[in-house]
Amino acid sequence: MSLATEVRTKYEAVIGLEVHVQLLTKSKIFCSCSTRFGDPPNSNTCPVCLGLPGALPVLNREAVTMATKAAMALNCALNARSRFARKNYFYPDLPKGYQISQYDEPLAEDGWIEIDADGARKRIGITRVHLEEDAGKSLHEGFPDSDRKSYIDLNRSGVPLIEIVSEPDLRAPEEAYEYLTRIKTLMLYLEVSDGNMEEGSLRCDANVSVRCQGATALGVKTELKNLNSFRFLQKALAYEIERQIEVIEGGGEIGQETRLWDSREQRTYGMRSKEFAHDYRYFPEPDLLPLVVSEEWKEEVRRSLPELPQAREERLERQYGLPKQDAQLLAMSRTMADYFEEVARRSGQPKLAANWILNDLVFLLQESHKGFTEYPVRPESLAELISLIAKGDISGKMGKEILAEMVRTEKSASAVIAERGFTQIADPEKIAAVVREIMGANPKQVEQYRKGKTAILDWFFGQVMKATHGQANPQLVREVLKKELA
Ligand code: ADP
Ligand code: ZN
Ligand code: MG
Repeated sequence: MSLATEVRTKYEAVIGLEVHVQLLTKSKIFCSCSTRFGDPPNSNTCPVCLGLPGALPVLNREAVTMATKAAMALNCALNARSRFARKNYFYPDLPKGYQISQYDEPLAEDGWIEIDADGARKRIGITRVHLEEDAGKSLHEGFPDSDRKSYIDLNRSGVPLIEIVSEPDLRAPEEAYEYLTRIKTLMLYLEVSDGNMEEGSLRCDANVSVRCQGATALGVKTELKNLNSFRFLQKALAYEIERQIEVIEGGGEIGQETRLWDSREQRTYGMRSKEFAHDYRYFPEPDLLPLVVSEEWKEEVRRSLPELPQAREERLERQYGLPKQDAQLLAMSRTMADYFEEVARRSGQPKLAANWILNDLVFLLQESHKGFTEYPVRPESLAELISLIAKGDISGKMGKEILAEMVRTEKSASAVIAERGFTQIADPEKIAAVVREIMGANPKQVEQYRKGKTAILDWFFGQVMKATHGQANPQLVREVLKKELA
């Protein structure tokens, strides 16, 4: 599908996301079963999360603390009192026949977060944040259909989630991508979720409609599901926007429905029409008291909030004089930002620190499948290397080799330097000898330099560094070159 530009630009897309975030509590939301991922199927279950008759839920305090933390960071107003409700529907992985969620009295409402849209800050409204339990997981196996088996794993049943519902404030797939990235970063900062989309701890449904530019009324929306990566979210939205425009341009109407993204065919297809929408028959959960987060509790949570990503990004830019883009990249991860600040503090070289982390270290770590948190290169070790580079004791080229070796062996900079003979040639006489040899072999270039073509100095510099395998002290090389060539 590809629409003519003049058709496409007649329309505006309107997008709102519903994001489910799995909280990092050790136990489930209404029982003490473990939430660990990857355990043998159905091993983390009890009468409560199996939905056996007569079992009673008991609310996990830590889940409420984490949800409150998230709601605060999303600038929401916390309701003085919220209430759990039963959302009734039948599904094999929902043994109780209902999911405990929140409905008309959610934990928090009316928040916002800021995203970057076309180089400007844009505020996206958060309609609500509520707590709920996850359902179990169905696993299907076998083909053809006659041979098909389905399994149910209830380890996930009762794992705590928050649902974050946005206002329909997003206007393009890129904005939706940016919004979800910000939500994920925020959850990681708060340490309330691992935000892992592949393992399902971050899930996103996208609602999308189109309308003519300038219109104020919302168009009929479709809801996209099955978006288990950031890329799919963006692709599915782009596809769906074009599809809707085509339908409308062709004189048709958009039906309110749920559609699934098919990543193999790169398209969405209808799953169920909202005409047959579930009536969940919500009613207040009789087995749980209304939830009241006391002022004291809120205050405790507020005090535990770390510096948030946006604030940190701005501070890194200001305090260390970093380019905006570097500050943004570093602030994307709390561990990386912490690491950077430690290296900057120890080396006194924030710009070099940012460059070495973003241009070299992240790739070396990626290549060797190591994370920042495992610290194959301790911050003091990178700081040591950077100090040597800043002093001119080590060339940038040597630095790269040394760093690669540090990541591989987990040894300190000085250990690698001593072992591998990466020692500097810092003796002016030795360097002068190399310089004179190169001058002798290249009389034409010497003459050019002396006639005033001083730019050729860089060429000489390169020759000396090549001859010394990058081991000559670069500053000294320049000094000696100037003296000898004069
Ligand atoms: P539903 O009743 O289908 O659950 P809601 O009004 O609760 O719909 O909204 C669910 C999500 O859909 C929210 O994120 C909201 O911002 C978004 N949304 C609502 N209406 C539209 C629309 N016309 N176009 C795009 N998104 C919408
Ligand atoms: Zn249980
Ligand atoms: Mg709704």
